Amino acid sequence: MCEFCHKHGEGQKWYLKAENYSDDLLSDLRRRKFIADFFSLAEESPGGLAKLGKLLPMPGFVKSVLVPYRVGRQKKVHFGQVLPIEDVEQIFGFVSSVVRLPCICRHINLGTEQRFCYGVSLAPQEGEMFKIIKEIDMDYLTGPDTSGLEDLTKEEALENFRQYEKEGLCHSVWTFVAPFIGGICNCDRSDCGAMQATVTRGFPVMFRAEYVAEVDPEPCNGCRQCMRVCQFGAIGYSAANKRIFIDPLRCYGCGICRASCTKDAIQLRDRADVPAVANLW
Ligand code: SF4
Ligand code: SF4
Repeated sequence: MCEFCHKHGEGQKWYLKAENYSDDLLSDLRRRKFIADFFSLAEESPGGLAKLGKLLPMPGFVKSVLVPYRVGRQKKVHFGQVLPIEDVEQIFGFVSSVVRLPCICRHINLGTEQRFCYGVSLAPQEGEMFKIIKEIDMDYLTGPDTSGLEDLTKEEALENFRQYEKEGLCHSVWTFVAPFIGGICNCDRSDCGAMQATVTRGFPVMFRAEYVAEVDPEPCNGCRQCMRVCQFGAIGYSAANKRIFIDPLRCYGCGICRASCTKDAIQLRDRADVPAVANLW
């Protein structure tokens, strides 16, 4: 169990605790303001990630103090954790509404509206978070309907997520002032600010899944399709064995490699059962 499970999940997976999606948490005015600012001031700093980038050129001793401070702050307001599809299914099993909205990171990095982010709520009709979003000036939220938000059935949303898996996108769940969970994203390292901050710049704001991938060498035919889709550089190829191998220290447990394997050679194991990475997040 990660620190978030201990802090926000009473020892269970924190993102499977229904209360963390509850509209009750949105009676907190600070949280409401954070959500409004997050979506209306998208260009400036989605959840403070842009400020992390400003730490990059600083001298090492300054970073050694500021980075843990900034990361600690992110863990209180806006952080994510990688999810495999089976945990997405579990979340969709207990929420009542799913809303699709454009991705802020892709808006900033690509300048286009791409709808890869999904808001989830226990409320049957969208819920408070989406009322907050609809009330703000959200010029990046355009699209086919005037609100920029689309209601989907849970089945439609899951079908999209399965398609994203085939396209190599990594699912992740996100807080808007912890422990409130507002959505699940489908991330690509080429344009996701959080993945870039975490994997490329060394400012962890998107944490590893509760799982880690493992390959069964018997069915593996060495086709390397899984290597092509791993966004974390966790898969290598052994020319001697003509098989791939997975580095558990690099694996984020997203399960995208598994989705790409036609030989069913990759499984996810509970991170807690793999001593080398049981406490690596
Ligand atoms: S996709 Fe499957 S069969 Fe191909 S190299 Fe990866 S684990 Fe082996
Ligand atoms: S090895 Fe597989 S599960 Fe691990 S990070 Fe890469 S794609 Fe995700």
